[in-house]
Amino acid sequence: MNNYLLLLGISSAPAVASMCATLPLWHSKHLRNRTIHTLGLIILFLALICCLLPVITSEDTGIGFAAIAVSCINFFLFRHYERLLYTLRCPGCRHATLRVRAVHHKTYRLHCKRCGLYTDWHE
Ligand SMILES: [Zn+2]
Repeated sequence: MNNYLLLLGISSAPAVASMCATLPLWHSKHLRNRTIHTLGLIILFLALICCLLPVITSEDTGIGFAAIAVSCINFFLFRHYERLLYTLRCPGCRHATLRVRAVHHKTYRLHCKRCGLYTDWHE
């Protein structure tokens, strides 16, 4: 039971930590979307290493492999967060006022209600 809880934590805790740490930065007018994205990735990797190292170096190799497998879920979660960041936060005025107008071939056509910027983002 304890191992299941451990695996559950490893599967999402690093991604959640990186989201919680970078979400307040959305309000900063000095940071570009790319900077927030990179910071989030750095926190994600650091948190992953902190979670995985004690598990991998422990005696139980089965749990070690399972932990590595479930840790991939973090990247799916972070990808979703990344998509939200680029399709909500305006690269011009840096407010979360973007609206998705159309999506085709993984390209999002975005419009900012606040500053009137039209922009495309390719996933
Ligand atoms: Zn704007």
